[in-house]
Order: sequence, then C-alpha cells, then structure tokens
Amino acid sequence: MSHVPDLTLAGGSTIPQLGFGTYQIEPADAVQTVTTALEIGYRHIDTAQMYENEAEVGEAVEHLRSEVFLTSKLNNGFHRPDDARRAFDETLRKLRTDRVDLFLIHWPLPTEYDGDYVSTWRTLGEFVADGRATAIGVSNFQVAHLQRLAEETGLLPAVNQIEVHPYFGNEEVRAYGREHGIVTEAWSPIAQGAVLDDPAVLQIASDVERTPAQVVLRWHVQRGDVVFPKSSTPSRMQENFDLFDVELDDAQMQALTALDRGPSGRIGPDPDTFDYVPG
Ligand code: NDP
Repeated sequence: MSHVPDLTLAGGSTIPQLGFGTYQIEPADAVQTVTTALEIGYRHIDTAQMYENEAEVGEAVEHLRSEVFLTSKLNNGFHRPDDARRAFDETLRKLRTDRVDLFLIHWPLPTEYDGDYVSTWRTLGEFVADGRATAIGVSNFQVAHLQRLAEETGLLPAVNQIEVHPYFGNEEVRAYGREHGIVTEAWSPIAQGAVLDDPAVLQIASDVERTPAQVVLRWHVQRGDVVFPKSSTPSRMQENFDLFDVELDDAQMQALTALDRGPSGRIGPDPDTFDYVPG
C-alpha cells in the first residue's frame, strides 16, 4: 500500500496529502464507491452538503471513522449564523460522527448576504471551540476575501480549497496561503480530465513510465498542495493513489507549471462573481 504523507495544519492537526473527492458521486453509488476507496487505502474523504452524499459517505466511513480524515462544507444557502449552526448539526448527523476533521465555507458569495462572509466564518469558529470541528477553513476564497477575514477576525483558515491544475495555476491565491500558513487544497486537480491529453503531459508520462493522471497528481504533491481526485472507476482510483514512488525532476515540474493559461484556464466559476444560492 502506498504511503501517503501527512501535512500539518495551523492548529496542529494533520491531514493526509492525498484524499478521495466525492463531487458528482450519486447518492445511490456513494456507499460502494467510498467503500472501494477505503479498501484501496484512501484515508481522507472530501464531501460537501452540496454534493448530497454526506449520509452515504457517513455510512461507508463509520466502521473506520477514527482512521479517516473527513471534510465537509457549508452549503451556499446557509451562510447566516443560525442556518450555519443548523446545517453543521445536520452534517454531523448524516456523517454519523460527533466531529469532523475539517469544515469549510464552500464559496465566499461576495455578492450575496450583503457581502458578509465574516459572520459565517466567526460561526465556524464556534465549532472548533466546542470540539465538533478539529479544523476549519474556506473554499474558493480570493486573496481579498482572506485578507478581510484576517483583518476583521484575526483568525485565518487552516486551508483554502481552490481550483488548481496545470491549466489554471491560481498562483496568487496559493502564494498568499504559503505566506500565511494556509494549506492549499487543489480541487479538480486533473481538470476533470481536460489536461490528460496535453502533449506536454503525455511526453512526461512516457518519460517517467506513469499515466498522465499520475504525472499531474504528482506535480500537485511536489508543489505541496493537498489533492483528492474523484473517480468512480476502481482501476483509476488505484492509479490515482499510487503517486509516492515516482519523482518529477525540475524540468518536468516547470514544463507542467508552464501550461498555466491564467484565468481563461478555469473550468469552474469565478469566485468573485459566483452567486449560486439554492432556492
Ligand atoms: P477531478 O479533476 O478529480 O476529475 C474527475 C474526473 O476525471 C472524473 O470524470 C473521472 O472519471 C476522471 N478521472 C479520474 N481519475 C482518472 C484517471 N486516472 N484517468 C482518467 N480519468 C480520470 O475533478 P473533480 O471536479 O471531481 O475534483 C476533485 C474533487 O475536488 C471533487 O470530487 C470534490 O471533492 C472537490 N471539488 C471541490 C470544489 C469546490 O468548490 N470546493 C469544486 C470541484 C471539486 P471517472 O469517475 O469516470 O473515473
């Protein structure tokens, strides 16, 4: 079984650098898929209220709960403090646990809630204080949003989960994280497959005798980010887990970093304008 390194979060807890993502895993499939991931050896599962599969993740993880790093995220409709408290209670109930390892604000929604994500952030602080979240963080926060949390609360997130892959390096936000002790978690690390047939990726894969997905995921790991690729295909789940006996050299790392297309490389929404709140 491949050995997954831990990273240390502000606050002192540790997080496995490689996990398993559950976005777009249908509830009907989620128990079986997460069970397969656990059998392969994944011990870090990333879910969210928005994915509507927390109950199934909870069912699959329950027998191994003490060994698994579990993350969930606050849905966009629940930013007001009382809603956040109720939604967090519900997350714990569905996940069949009395504590999550990490709980995130899923999106900043700066054009909603009168631009107030700060009271939401303070509310997450309550869950650390009462022991029901070991660590808290944010997702899709831009530098300005992080600066505002720091200025108005003095409490920085342990992680920022953001879109990062070779076509969208998101370097400004990553750099802010590096400078302030915020671990970057890279979502859609293989750009949902879009980077896998890039000629530069294929060339490096051929040179190191690994698959394109392994090369791209290894690039993330060597940059120090946390990744949790999603797959519903057991052979790919295994492939994505086997990253720790290969090393990319500096030229290979730079060739992948050079694929950055700036903002046009995003595959997901722009956090400054994303305003989806379920009705
Ligand atoms: P990924 O970049 O992980 O790509 C998933 C897609 O790639 C699936 O279609 C999968 O197909 C395919 N795939 C996976 N492994 C391989 C492989 N080895 N070879 C070829 N194809 C492969 O995309 P996600 O968007 O799922 O991102 C990962 C996780 O990040 C999510 O599951 C979620 O946990 C998190 N996330 C967070 C967001 C946020 O706003 N905070 C937004 C988006 C994602 P198949 O399943 O058919 O095998």
